Amino acid sequence: LTFLGLESSCDDTAAAVVRADGTVLASVVAGQTALHAPFGGVVPEIAARAHAEKLDTCVEEALAEAGLRLSDLDGIAVTSGPGLIGGVMSGVMCARGLAAGTGLPLVGVNHLAGHALTPRLTDGLAFPYLMLLVSGGHCQFLLVRGPDSFSRLGGTIDDAPGEAFDKAAKLLGLPQPGGPSVEAEAAKGNPKAFRFPRPLLDRPGCDLSFSGLKTALLRARDTEIAGHGGLYRQTRADLCAGFQQAIADVLAEKTRRALAVYLDTAPEQPALAVAGGVAANTAIRTALERLCAAQGVRFTAPPLRLCTDNAAMIAWAGIERFRLGIATEADLIARPRWPLDATAPAMLGSGK
Ligand code: ATP
Ligand code: FE
Repeated sequence: LTFLGLESSCDDTAAAVVRADGTVLASVVAGQTALHAPFGGVVPEIAARAHAEKLDTCVEEALAEAGLRLSDLDGIAVTSGPGLIGGVMSGVMCARGLAAGTGLPLVGVNHLAGHALTPRLTDGLAFPYLMLLVSGGHCQFLLVRGPDSFSRLGGTIDDAPGEAFDKAAKLLGLPQPGGPSVEAEAAKGNPKAFRFPRPLLDRPGCDLSFSGLKTALLRARDTEIAGHGGLYRQTRADLCAGFQQAIADVLAEKTRRALAVYLDTAPEQPALAVAGGVAANTAIRTALERLCAAQGVRFTAPPLRLCTDNAAMIAWAGIERFRLGIATEADLIARPRWPLDATAPAMLGSGK
């Protein structure tokens, strides 16, 4: 079984060819960073146009890289939500066109399901496993029970950690993306020099919050600047170290709680998978690895290129859905919002 995958829900246009045995034959990602840079954020209209323009060349490139033709494929999978609706529609239309032209089966995939199923592609994890998705736009714990069965155990009630890192970098005059630059500064700092809050730890459950950390950082920075007429290099490193440690601590504690819920289901081969750009952070990763080691839980993290937005995960999720025969026509409606959680079923076409 070989699938073509398409992804265009945010600011990356991507196409990939993946085989059911987990071989990624090609994975092409065309970013749009330069297009959006002058506006300080992703502009939906510009993104949609760029996707519409780039999708077919990405498909051609992916097929060429895989050394295959459309007629060699067994199906097409496309992200049909959630995301910026213009981009999602570009992808769905492109995929519909390809399917109509070739007669191949077409499978709509939830972008988050793509992220959540990636550890099956990369590490062959068995269901059920616990997934922590931590990126620039997401932070949630998912109990992954099957290709179409997810329970959300908790998530951020405000910012995602990646977003927090990015804002922190902005506040401290460090380059974007903020995660890597804050991490590099933190390596030179003392995490105990400043006291940062540990939001929501006093409350039960797996929900997280990061916006208070950003406010605490802003206050600490301003106090320093007011007191010294500027920010010392060492102070900046200390602030980064304290900020990063707070995020790592909160993530570790909430993960411990999510693991407890997960382990209660008595999984045969307990595993935690992390995905998303923030999983690249060594302090965070180490904290999670330690936690897993202590609980006898396998820890996996897909390689970064398969953690950040890509189409290989969409092709793979398409294969998984197709194999189980759970792909439905309704999945092909472009949806700006599409919660994964079984307890929050998607409302078709209502934009909710
Ligand atoms: P999403 O895919 O969820 O919509 P996204 O595309 O912004 O969001 P990713 O591409 O998965 O997310 O990850 C990018 C984020 O990861 C950025 O916010 C970036 O700062 C963060 N990040 C990258 N490297 C690190 C690191 N070493 N430490 C902390 N954060 C990091
Ligand atoms: Fe994503």
